[in-house]
Amino acid sequence: MAEFSLDLGEDQRELRDWVHGFAEATVRPAAAEWDEREETPWPIIQEAAKVGLYGFEFLANTWADPTGLSLCLASEELFWGDAGIGMAIFGTGLAVAAIYATGTQDQLVEWVPQCFGDAADPKVAAFCSTEPEAGSDVGAMRTRAVRDEATGDWVLNGQKTFATNGGIADVHVVTASVEPALGARGQATFLVPPGTRGLSSPRKMRKLGLRASHTADVYLDDVRLPAACLLGGQEALDRRLATARTGERAQSQGAMRTFELSRPTVGAQAIGIARAAYEYALDYARGRVQFGRPIVENQAIAFALADMRTEIDAARLLVWRAAWMGKNNRPFLAGEGSMSKLKAGEVAIATTEKAVQILGGYGYSREHPVQRWYRDAKIYTIFEGTSEIQRLVVARAISGVHVR
Ligand SMILES: Cc1cc2nc3c(=O)[nH]c(=O)nc-3n(C[C@H](O)[C@H](O)[C@H](O)COP(=O)(O)OP(=O)(O)OC[C@H]3O[C@@H](n4cnc5c(N)ncnc54)[C@H](O)[C@@H]3O)c2cc1C
Repeated sequence: MAEFSLDLGEDQRELRDWVHGFAEATVRPAAAEWDEREETPWPIIQEAAKVGLYGFEFLANTWADPTGLSLCLASEELFWGDAGIGMAIFGTGLAVAAIYATGTQDQLVEWVPQCFGDAADPKVAAFCSTEPEAGSDVGAMRTRAVRDEATGDWVLNGQKTFATNGGIADVHVVTASVEPALGARGQATFLVPPGTRGLSSPRKMRKLGLRASHTADVYLDDVRLPAACLLGGQEALDRRLATARTGERAQSQGAMRTFELSRPTVGAQAIGIARAAYEYALDYARGRVQFGRPIVENQAIAFALADMRTEIDAARLLVWRAAWMGKNNRPFLAGEGSMSKLKAGEVAIATTEKAVQILGGYGYSREHPVQRWYRDAKIYTIFEGTSEIQRLVVARAISGVHVR
């Protein structure tokens, strides 16, 4: 009979404590500096690679956890340290996940190590899907991939935007439309090897938060790729397009499932930020004296902290549930993956905002980290599907209606 338990196993507790140790000793102390510099923290990525927190082996080990929780545990702890540096370290995972989801075994073996480089010379990878005219509306993608029948090469043209690690990556994983009439189902994913001609990144974005993570436009100007760079290979693409032409829904449901699977991990990152802010505010409220007593003795402050803790724990339970469901092939009948990311993102914003309030003027000052957490948290209702898009997924799943 299946047992129910919310206790973490020994391996999971060890992983969590190990990542926490790295976050506390190496990431948190460097956070303010890299946020101000607004640059990629290469020395810290290298340190993460050295200790084994950055690399394919680490990802493979966490993916192997049969409960699905390990990557969430690691993400919460790393992003508790700092979200900008956390994304600089884990951003490559997005490109790797795309290769893992659609690539062949050979592609996986050839390309994933190149995404990470090695501890002596770490590299990063970028996943480029969003375009100026195609954000939430992925089907509006304009980047085109056309097959050169004479050589079998693919030629890509278009513009991507908001690409994490765009332009500084060794490997770019790029989505493009191969059959525009099929919308989102007429798209394919390509590997762009290091040094490929025609790929450029003239503009890095300056952002509100997550400033240690590089975000940039990526231009594709007659980027010529050998057939081997089509993820999954030609036969798989032909089969997929043939199904799409019949109007069956199988493929889009497959893509939807991939998103639902990755969302709990993103939710766990948001919880890491929220927990950092909650812990800091609790500590501050115990020590800050006004009207002759610590401010935590006022219900207004203590209840705010009680709400922060309750919401964080609730969000974490949704994240763990979705991660467990995904790993154990439970169908997301109510959009549980989206639910977890929606809740975690909104809790991160509410919690960090309350933390700023609890610190008063000091919360607004850059002498304390809560303002950075407040800025960082905001991305979690925007990327990997905005809160509105998550609500759409849940609304459609529970109603059976194509809510718009
Ligand atoms: C820091 C950062 C890192 C990123 N990293 C990557 C990356 O690595 N790779 C990548 O491909 N992309 C990345 N993105 C892009 C991100 O995924 C998009 O910004 C996001 O999907 C939203 O698209 P958009 O910005 O075009 O907003 P839009 O889609 O234009 O949305 C604008 C507003 O309209 C709402 N809206 C849109 N459609 C609907 C609807 N049908 N119903 C209700 N409301 C709707 C949205 O929820 C939002 O509030 C990143 C973005 C940022 C800021």
